[in-house]
Amino acid sequence: MKKVSEYIKEQLKNPEVKKEYDALEEEYKKINQELKGKPQMKTKFVQCPYCKDIIHSTYSGHFVWCSCQKTFIDQTEYYIRTTSDSIVIENDVEE
Ligand SMILES: [Zn+2]
Repeated sequence: MKKVSEYIKEQLKNPEVKKEYDALEEEYKKINQELKGKPQMKTKFVQCPYCKDIIHSTYSGHFVWCSCQKTFIDQTEYYIRTTSDSIVIENDVEE
């Protein structure tokens, strides 16, 4: 399996993907900021391999579908569930 960072690097060669990725960067920053002061929460992002949507669950019981409805993510207090073919993107909150 390819590393996520390599995968992203490859995808970013496509200017359209790059544009979307840059927009998401902003979103990540916002989320990271929200996560500060909530040390227990670790947000996991997954990307749908079909529609390329990046989705995430931000709190326990938060169930999210991608736009093609082939990928979901949800989390409880104890674990995060997602579809087996989703691409997991680790979101490290540590500085
Ligand atoms: Zn999808």
